[in-house]
Amino acid sequence: MTRSLPENYREILIGLGEDPDREGLLDTPLRAAKAMQYLCHGYEQSLDEIVNGALFASDSDEMIIVADIELYSLCEHHLLPFIGKAHVAYIPTGKVLGLSKIARLVDMFARRLQIQENLTRQIADAVQQVTDAAGVAVVIEARHMCMMMRGVEKQNSTMNTSVMLGAFRESSNTRQEFLQLIGRRSKCHNYNREWRASGSRICACAPLSGSTRTRSSTSRKC
Ligand SMILES: [Zn+2]
Repeated sequence: MTRSLPENYREILIGLGEDPDREGLLDTPLRAAKAMQYLCHGYEQSLDEIVNGALFASDSDEMIIVADIELYSLCEHHLLPFIGKAHVAYIPTGKVLGLSKIARLVDMFARRLQIQENLTRQIADAVQQVTDAAGVAVVIEARHMCMMMRGVEKQNSTMNTSVMLGAFRESSNTRQEFLQLIGRRSKCHNYNREWRASGSRICACAPLSGSTRTRSSTSRKC
């Protein structure tokens, strides 16, 4: 941690009209700095270090899915948390990645300042890069505190993003199999068309949990 981080938090307290010398706040600048540093520890990690040689030879060419990976990140616009889950799938071509590595890889990118769209793309690209897979799919469903606690204050909105590479982008059967396996049998008629067109999209459908939808300007009701 740079020495100035706790000092900057002290300035923030003053800026908010607080007295940083009152008893309850005496240690807050240091605690807040440590917490923020932990929430951003992904900057100190690299893909090589995460994978650490845990790539294994395999004849399997079946889809491998790691679903419901817990995800905690901070939005880069407001420094407020967004929380959700990631579903990652790939189709190996001779190499498989240790399962825990997928979760650690998600965490490495999530523990940086992010927007959900970029996070989804970074995870997909990293899995592709490491495994040289025939296809990679990543779906993230998350709730954004910057939307729930401020602004429009929509308590039940979930934002869904996805990136489909290779076989997941080219084959609607492969894509549908993945979506069914992660339990998001989409009612959205735009899924297939838009994925084919761009390889990624923000879905404006209500997720199966029944929550209502996202703030993104590129999304729409369907
Ligand atoms: Zn935000």
